[in-house]
Amino acid sequence: ATPTALLVGTGRGAQLGILIKGPEVLESTRRIDTVVLDKTGTVTTGQMSLVDIHVAGGVADEEALRLAGALENASEHPIARAIATAAIDELGDLPDVEDFKNLEGLGVQGVVEGKAVVAGRTALLADWSQQLPAELAEAKAAAEKDGKTAVAVGWDGRARAVLVVADTVKPTSAEAVRKLRALGLEPVLLTGDNAAVAKAIAAEAGIDEVIAEVLPKDKVDVISGLQADGRVVAMVGDGVNDAAALAQADLGLAMGTGTDVAIEASDLTLVRGDLLAAVDAIRLARRTLGTIK
Ligand code: ADP
Ligand code: MG
Repeated sequence: ATPTALLVGTGRGAQLGILIKGPEVLESTRRIDTVVLDKTGTVTTGQMSLVDIHVAGGVADEEALRLAGALENASEHPIARAIATAAIDELGDLPDVEDFKNLEGLGVQGVVEGKAVVAGRTALLADWSQQLPAELAEAKAAAEKDGKTAVAVGWDGRARAVLVVADTVKPTSAEAVRKLRALGLEPVLLTGDNAAVAKAIAAEAGIDEVIAEVLPKDKVDVISGLQADGRVVAMVGDGVNDAAALAQADLGLAMGTGTDVAIEASDLTLVRGDLLAAVDAIRLARRTLGTIK
């Protein structure tokens, strides 16, 4: 490789808003055939908002929002921010939380107003032997079919509410997915979210292959699994959750709008916060390699 060509590549990269960690990175783009895309914050904006509250058993909406809001106010997760912000807007000050625990990729738990409260995936409630009553299960299914995330909330040993949180697909994601395909790359959506939500979001972005309900610690195994199948994998992500997977991928691309941990673990940083920057990065890398050959 001639150093000049590599320098041109990285210089042009900077112009396009792509920061390349080292010239050797370009080499790995040659054989990439699969691009794994994290859902939240990568394909979607990650700016979630609370759009609906469903309650069961005579619980008031306000109580569900107050208890869940207090709990989520202790978490940085985009879902938590949406619920806590809505609760503060609606109710003002929220009660204190004791014994708070963040359960990675599942939800949160703690004691609020003397009640043991849990909020998150239904799997989390199942651990507490709590089951969604029929009316809440229906609300959850309807929300998920629509690509929205249903957060189950339980306290005092019972599932009592479902809070519906919506994210939006970035306006450029579908175009970027088309362009990845045109480059001969197969896009795959990877998420910890429910399979129904993931499928709805994938359909909106034009992605056929979906890997859902993956715990944060297992994302890295999904990447090595694809590699074991003979695929050469680029991964685009933004979260703390994505760091190990970004490092495992043959090429890791971090959203510049994402967390420092993700940026550090990756080979490329996309300063622009959209997927078209990933397309530009792969194109640029290939073109630069072309001039070296
Ligand atoms: P993603 O892969 O989309 O970035 P995560 O792995 O962070 O998502 O979370 C997976 C799922 O766990 C979420 O879709 C949500 O259902 C649940 N979850 C995680 N954290 C929270 C939280 N603080 N409150 C409610 N639900 C949560
Ligand atoms: Mg994420």
